[in-house]
Amino acid sequence: MEDIRNCPRCGSVFVYRGRDICPRCVADEEDQFERVRRFLRTSPSATLEEVVEATGVSAELVLSFMRQGRLVATGGLKGLLSCQRCGAPIDDGQLCGDCSRELAREVDRAASAVREEGTPSSGSPAADGPAPPEGVVRGRMYVADLVKRRLTRDDK
Ligand SMILES: [Zn+2]
Ligand SMILES: [Zn+2]
Repeated sequence: MEDIRNCPRCGSVFVYRGRDICPRCVADEEDQFERVRRFLRTSPSATLEEVVEATGVSAELVLSFMRQGRLVATGGLKGLLSCQRCGAPIDDGQLCGDCSRELAREVDRAASAVREEGTPSSGSPAADGPAPPEGVVRGRMYVADLVKRRLTRDDK
C-alpha cells in the first residue's frame, strides 16, 4: 500500500518516502541550497537580504539551512539564529557556545557518575550530537592537574 500525501510546499500529490515534501520540492530545495552556497563562496560577507536578492531563495529557507547546520553563517549572516535554550544570537545549529558548554558539563557529570564508561550518553534531547567543546575537556584536565599538584605539595 502506498502512502499518498499532499506536498505542504507545492500542494501536489506524491508517494511518501520518508521526506515530508514531494521529490520535486526536495530537488528544488537542493538546487536552492547549492545556489546559496555558491553565492556565499563568492560573497562571504553578504547579508541575508543580499543572499535572498541574489539567489531568489527565501530568507526562511536560508535560515533553515543554517539551523540544519548545512550552512555555516559567515559575514552578514552571523547571529541571525538564536539559541533554542537561552535565545542568544548564534551562527548555526541550535545552541549557543555557553549552552552547548553547559550541556557538555551535564553530559560530563552524567559520565563521571557512570565512571569509566567510555561513551557518555546525554539524557537531553536538545544535545543533538555535538561533542563536548575542547574547553571543557581542557578545563577538567587543568583542575585535575591542580589537585594533583596540591596533593603532592601537601604530602611534604
Ligand atoms: Zn512539492
Ligand atoms: Zn544559549
